Formats: sequence, structure tokens, C-alpha cells
Amino acid sequence: MARRGKDKAGARGFVEIDGSKGEGGGQVLRSSLALSLITGKPVRIHNIRARRSKPGLLRQHLTAVRAAKEIGQAEVVGDEMRSSALEFTPKAITHGDYEFAVGTAGSSTLVFQTVLWPLVVTPGRSRVVFEGGTHNPKAPPFEFISRAFLPLIRRMGARVDATIERYGFYPAGGGRFAVTIEGGVTWRPLHLQERGSLTRIRAEALWANLPKGVADREIKVLRDELELKRDSLKARKVDSVGPGNAVLVELESAGCSEVFADFGARGRPAEEVAKGAIAEVRRYLDAGVPVGPHLADQLLLPMALAGAGSFCTMAPTLHTTTNIEVINRFLEVDIQLARESEDSERYALRVGADEV
Ligand code: ATP
Repeated sequence: MARRGKDKAGARGFVEIDGSKGEGGGQVLRSSLALSLITGKPVRIHNIRARRSKPGLLRQHLTAVRAAKEIGQAEVVGDEMRSSALEFTPKAITHGDYEFAVGTAGSSTLVFQTVLWPLVVTPGRSRVVFEGGTHNPKAPPFEFISRAFLPLIRRMGARVDATIERYGFYPAGGGRFAVTIEGGVTWRPLHLQERGSLTRIRAEALWANLPKGVADREIKVLRDELELKRDSLKARKVDSVGPGNAVLVELESAGCSEVFADFGARGRPAEEVAKGAIAEVRRYLDAGVPVGPHLADQLLLPMALAGAGSFCTMAPTLHTTTNIEVINRFLEVDIQLARESEDSERYALRVGADEV
């Protein structure tokens, strides 16, 4: 339910967002755009990405703004490179066929997350093609979206499919994936309290336009450290315009699946890339929770839109706490986050008053 209180809206009815608060990065912008489109409330954001070394709108963020503008026929002031302030006034969200290209290796999966929820709630079918980076450090890699995130949001009622056509790595970019969305969602609350038993671990080393030895070295580390059998390991050559490398580990449990990743970079030893992904896996397994730190911040918005849901996760990141604050500026929804007990590493997040 949209919040109408005057306290939340500034002059001329704008919701005012200070982009320097909390995490102070691109997610504040993307969540604000999605929620503005869905609630119909105009938003004014200042200090955009103020806590980043290159603040303001970069290519990925500008593409997200322009994508939101197009699907919502919005009036926008400030949609320029390096802009630190934006006024966004949406009209109606229109489903349909769209194509959004970042134009650099900037993350296209984050552009996807900007338009996803508006198109999920709007009746009608959309087919959206995204171009740019598909495997970027500090952004969801495509397989996290397809294997961890989408299966969960489908359980919440969203009808979304995604197919990758070409991989995009930093610095060349040029990745491409297509998403179909059957809009007009009927939400179902999702409750993810326990991970349950681990049913499968599989790991992949993706490589493009590099010697295969890079992936082989990563596979060796994954095999030794995670004690995986040959049929759970794969060095996968992928189609990409430039060189690139990523390690992905998928953990399938009774409760849900999670995907952890790390990314190759010039001068970074393959072993270190594999160990980076393994460290994430270990942290998750040790915590004994179903929802890892990235899924946690990304499940908040659909749960808030559904008005109900809950999950158990690890110590909340700044992305999670900041996203809760942004959501609360647009929606009248109760979100509670609490440590399960003083000596526990588990945190319970609950949206709405729904019984678990
Ligand atoms: P900035 O450049 O301002 O940091 P950004 O737009 O690139 O901004 P953030 O605002 O930091 O990015 O948001 C990054 C998002 O990507 C968060 O939702 C975070 O959970 C997610 N993310 C980062 N790394 C991963 C990963 N390995 N797997 C899944 N999701 C990830």
C-alpha cells in the first residue's frame, strides 16, 4: 500500500531521497526509481552515489534512469552523465518490448533490477533485452539471477524467465541477455526460515578469450578445497567479445539455492579468484542460514511489494539496511530485522505481520 503521509513527501509532492545516506551507492537510486514507478510518486534524489569515489550517475546508472523513464513515460530532470541530482516524475508503466544497452561493461543485471518490479506488477507481457556487463565484480552475475534469485521470486508469484545470449566481462562488456515477464503478479508470501540439508554443490569456471589453463587452475582449487567430484565441476568456455573469467559456486539446499561468485582480473592469480568464491561459500555454510547477504538485500523489494514474507540471513549488510530505509520512504510496510539471539549469527527479517 502506498504511503500518502505529507511527512514523506517534500515540496510539489516529491519523495526526497538523500543518496549519500547509508550505503550511498547505486542501489539507492535503482530502488527509488522502481518504487517511484510502482507507487506513481515523483522522486527527487540528491547526492547521488555520494559515497563512491566517482560519485553521480555513471553509464550503468544513467542507463537505469533512462530505462525507468522509458517504461514509465516519466518526465526527468538531471539524467546526464555524472549528474548528482535527479527529478523523476512517472506517468503510467507500459509493458512491451524494450532494449536497454549500458554501452560499457557496466552491469546490465543491475539495470534489469531497476525495471523488473515495475514490469512484474504491470499487467501484460514484456520482453526486455539488456546489454552490457553480465559478470561484474560487486554486481549480481547472470547465474545468480537465473539460478538463485529468479527461482525464489517465482515462488512469490512473479513470472519471469531469463536467457543469456552473450557474456559481458569488464572491460570489454558487450554481454546480452533477454528477459520475459508476464506481468500482473498475484503475490504469494515467501518464508525462508531454514536452509535444510545441502543437496548439491556444483562449481564452474567460466572463461572467454583467455588460455584455458586459467579455468583449469580454478577448477583444481575448487575440487581440492570443496572436495567436489568431477561431475560437479566444469570449466565452461563462453562466448564474449573480450577476455573474461568468473568462478561460480551453486549450493542447492532443501530450502533454496544460492550462488556465490568471484571474478578474474588482469594480474589476479586464478587461485585467488577461486579462493574468493570459496570464502563466500564457507561464510554462508558456517552461518547456517538459507539467504546469503546479496540475496537478502535483493529480496526486500519484492517482499515489501507483496506486503508479507520472511527469511533468515547473516549479519545484515549496509545494502540491506539502506534498502529498508528507501523502501520505507515509499511504502507503508512494516519491516523488522533482528538478531535471533545474542550469541547467534542468524538474523530474522520479517515483512508485514504475516504468521510464519
Ligand atoms: P556503486 O557503483 O554505486 O556501488 P552499483 O550500482 O554498481 O553502485 P551497489 O549499489 O553497490 O552497486 O549495488 C550492488 C548490488 O549488487 C547489491 O544489490 C548487491 O547485493 C549486488 N551484488 C554484489 N555482488 C554480488 C554477487 N556476487 N552476487 C549477487 N549479487 C551481488
